[in-house]
Amino acid sequence: MTTRQRTGSRLSRRAIELRPSGIREFFDLVVDMDDVISLGVGEPDFPTPWGICDAVIESLRHGATSYTSNRGMLELRVEIARYVERKYRVGYDPEEEILVTVGVSEAVDLAMRALLDPGDEVLVPDPSYVSYAPCVDLAHGVSISVPTRLEDEFRLTPEPLARACTERTRALLFGNPSNPTGAVMRAEHLAEVARVAIDADLIVISDEIYAELTYDGPHTSIAALPGMRERTLLLNGFSKADAMTGWRIGYACGPVEIIEAMTRMHAYTTMCVPIMAQIAAIEALRHGEDDRARMIAEYDQRRRVFVNGLNRIGLDCFEPMGAFYAFPSIAGTGLNSTQFSQALLMDQRVAVVPGIAFGECGEGHVRCSYASSIADLREALARMEVFLARLASGAVEVAQ
Ligand code: PLP
Repeated sequence: MTTRQRTGSRLSRRAIELRPSGIREFFDLVVDMDDVISLGVGEPDFPTPWGICDAVIESLRHGATSYTSNRGMLELRVEIARYVERKYRVGYDPEEEILVTVGVSEAVDLAMRALLDPGDEVLVPDPSYVSYAPCVDLAHGVSISVPTRLEDEFRLTPEPLARACTERTRALLFGNPSNPTGAVMRAEHLAEVARVAIDADLIVISDEIYAELTYDGPHTSIAALPGMRERTLLLNGFSKADAMTGWRIGYACGPVEIIEAMTRMHAYTTMCVPIMAQIAAIEALRHGEDDRARMIAEYDQRRRVFVNGLNRIGLDCFEPMGAFYAFPSIAGTGLNSTQFSQALLMDQRVAVVPGIAFGECGEGHVRCSYASSIADLREALARMEVFLARLASGAVEVAQ
């Protein structure tokens, strides 16, 4: 009996089986509570820099309210090509090799739909960003978890990657720097992954939305490594480093054939990214450097305060070199990540995300976003310290 027959629903099997993300479920709990310090959301706490907003307001005064080219405004694609070349040393033709999308989110979805036939397999690191596996599934593919380990700071390593390859494997989808762990893959780590990708003839979808938020040394794109440009789809956007989550804009750079297929799908489903967001992105690329640097320096300072604090109160945490997440171990508490997160929220009003929400290898950890003010981070640490002491003395009620 099919799922549809069993449930009597008019929805497709995929719609019935698609689960809300573990993050969502958890944060439905938080919305009705007072005095919560949320380290849960993966969103900058800065507003979009005013220069960007101003440029859009000005453009509206001049009547910029129309559709644009499906691919995105050429002016924007030229700026994206310049930026990617300057920062990451990969050249793309703005006419044919760049598509402007509704955030990296749409780019991941389009990539999966452009690349997969039913049953094709996509390798996804465990733990990783909550949308990857569902996007594979929605495109009728099969996501295959590639385990990563704390000992490697949850970086993808070549052996488990190679072991996961079958004749159905089409692609590898991963984020660098990583959400949820904050780990960064440097050139030497990427070279090992690239070797497996070339041997197994994989397309690599490289989500580099946190590239600017790399704290010690430059970000390397896997697309810049020898033999990789032609098999890599480089995704990036403006949500994180430019504090533009609400504008919904990102982009994909890659081989003409893939970008062209994604553009056809995007043309039918989305038409184009709103022109206001595109104008904002042009402004961010042309004049956003100082604001970006200011916010990155601020995240870096918070990172040090927060990660030192976690280690001080007894939650071991490796130093995250990218994004704005820390991924401390909670193993010493004897609780699983869901119990820990719920108990911490109820007892001390601090919201973190259970590591299990990002995959089984994330169990035993929680994700904490440090995109919050230093004052909030210090207060969160103080509350967590109280929580750990109360937990150790048996004063905390834990759901079984
Ligand atoms: N990729 C990763 C790794 C993310 O963490 C997020 C948002 O949290 C996204 C993509 C979504 O980005 P966008 O706002 O560009 O759709």
